[in-house]
Amino acid sequence: MLAGAIDCGGTKVLAALVDEKGTIYAPCCASLPTGDKSRYFADSVALLRESCRTHGFPFESLSRVGVSIPGMTDGADRVLGSPSAGWGEFSVFPLLRPLFPDSEIDIRLENDVNACALAERRFADAGDDFIWLTVSTGIGGAVVSGGRLLRGATSCAGEIGHVKVEFDVPALCGCGGKGCLEAHASGTAIGRESRMAGTGEDAAACATEALSGNAAARRIWHRAGMYIGRALAAVSCAVNPSAVYVGGGVARSLSLLLPGIREAFSQEVLPQCSAVEILPSRLGYNASLLGAAALCFPMPEVGENRID
Ligand SMILES: [Zn+2]
Repeated sequence: MLAGAIDCGGTKVLAALVDEKGTIYAPCCASLPTGDKSRYFADSVALLRESCRTHGFPFESLSRVGVSIPGMTDGADRVLGSPSAGWGEFSVFPLLRPLFPDSEIDIRLENDVNACALAERRFADAGDDFIWLTVSTGIGGAVVSGGRLLRGATSCAGEIGHVKVEFDVPALCGCGGKGCLEAHASGTAIGRESRMAGTGEDAAACATEALSGNAAARRIWHRAGMYIGRALAAVSCAVNPSAVYVGGGVARSLSLLLPGIREAFSQEVLPQCSAVEILPSRLGYNASLLGAAALCFPMPEVGENRID
């Protein structure tokens, strides 16, 4: 059985067919401006149509489509806001449904980080109790507890990027708050620290320096890791996970972050909640696309997260 998967990003969109094992067929990618939402979703579905054509699968035969969104959603059909795409609150189904020949097509929508967590569970055997952390230009999080994605009272559960981790010299965060994890350990924050220390223009350059033995660069990664470990310790006391899966572009440098993460985590977590493995995501580069697909192949225990 093949499902359609669309990974809607703030700058690029990836569409493909995906089977229940997580195998991706005929991925198609394009940079799409987000300003005109109708146009954006029409062009996104056109990408999926192109994927179907490439794979020789009739577009008309698609019965389910998963869509990952770069912002908060209500778990049904509403986007609650996306700073990266410049979107406020709106309903997606009225834009998407008319683009498919079958008006009853099963369309499922989810925040991209939540979707990644569901994919880690569906396609990579992540278990029933874990945290998913995206470390990229920002920091996003999701929590699966007892086999269910935690959504929370206002669909904001898992926003680990905005756990406060620095109180003495707090940096301003994109959310308007100060001292958030995202403001101190995202790729953007590491890049800022790196420019101040003269260890490279961005996080990737700082990683290269650190790997070549530059002590100042290594300190930046260690400090960022300490902030992540502090946030994970706080969240772990609340949800008692068995593992943390780290994805996103900066996660390619997880080996540089891990010593700091482990140091702060072990210092600050409740001992009874300390048996937590910290691992790279096993989903690879296409985590968010697989997340969109995972919405179409829910495991029984996450049935309540289905959009029926
Ligand atoms: Zn924040």
